[in-house]
Amino acid sequence: MKNSFGEIQEILPEMFLLENEPMAKYTSFQFGGPADVLAEPKNTQEIVRLVQYAKHSGLPYLVIGKGSNLIVRDGGIRGLVIVLSDQYSRMELLGKTRIKAEAGARLIALARYAYEQGLSGLEFASGIPGSLGGAVAMDAGAYGGEMKQVVQQVTALNQQGQIVCLSNEEMNFSYRHSAVLEQQLIVLSTELELTEKYPTEIKAQMDELSAKRRSKQPLQYPSAGSVFKRPPGKFAGTLIEQAGLKGYRIGDAQVSELHAGFIINLGHATAAEVLQLIKHIQETVLRQSGVMLEPEIHIIGEES
Ligand SMILES: Cc1cc2nc3c(=O)[nH]c(=O)nc-3n(C[C@H](O)[C@H](O)[C@H](O)COP(=O)(O)OP(=O)(O)OC[C@H]3O[C@@H](n4cnc5c(N)ncnc54)[C@H](O)[C@@H]3O)c2cc1C
Repeated sequence: MKNSFGEIQEILPEMFLLENEPMAKYTSFQFGGPADVLAEPKNTQEIVRLVQYAKHSGLPYLVIGKGSNLIVRDGGIRGLVIVLSDQYSRMELLGKTRIKAEAGARLIALARYAYEQGLSGLEFASGIPGSLGGAVAMDAGAYGGEMKQVVQQVTALNQQGQIVCLSNEEMNFSYRHSAVLEQQLIVLSTELELTEKYPTEIKAQMDELSAKRRSKQPLQYPSAGSVFKRPPGKFAGTLIEQAGLKGYRIGDAQVSELHAGFIINLGHATAAEVLQLIKHIQETVLRQSGVMLEPEIHIIGEES
């Protein structure tokens, strides 16, 4: 009898498919055990057929983008990982001020595309290393901007296998949250409504934000950005710093010296080390300031 890998290969012979593939290659933290099967579809039909197969055969599946907000545990992921990334990333201009893009489009590329069209609204996203799908799922944001402000419509695959369109309102966006996470939707494409502006002004804003990022974030190390959500009225990084944890290290996982809200991988960190460090930070901050920090990062997979 064929296994899932063999069966998917037979149904979708053209698709990029790997077996027992280390997730370290697909996450910005650069660790994580293997996925049983990993598929990188390049069109909507392939995504739909993969999900149909998984549902029909009872194979667990999940969708990721650029893996820049993920911890994959060291035991890896049982079932199918569907990566929506560069293979599924077409962008187009609709009319004068609207851009439509597939879920795998890089936010950084999308912000650049908008700038080239003289369209403003995505400057805030020009340094966020995720995919459009991940950014929509997470309502990614920075420097006062967030996806909620620019998303006009999202096309997604729902749990019943239907392709549906959601308006901005139906997306139910809130801080690092959306209907995508609530209803376990798969974002296929998104239309963004932007405003016309002189490209030089857009570029100046992007350059300013990128300089801020470079000076405040440890971008030379693998990480998944801010580990914790911002507690109401406070900053996670400040609480962690006040708890004396800047530079605190477990194995190769370290609280960044530059930005205490980031955990960095010094070279060979494991998910277990990062998760232990997260627990230590939560306990210490709770003891010292009474605030329970909630992870912003999504934690998936099995322990080794
Ligand atoms: C250096 C650095 C800086 C960062 N700065 C910021 C920042 O300023 N602001 C910010 O908000 N984030 C920031 N992040 C975090 C991260 O880039 C964002 O959360 C990003 O939007 C995640 O996109 P992704 O494609 O990497 O998603 P992934 O990490 O692949 O997935 C994140 C979640 O989204 C889901 N998902 C992904 N794609 C889809 C899809 N197509 N359909 C349905 N669900 C999907 C996944 O299942 C998972 O639950 C930073 C990360 C790094 C490493």
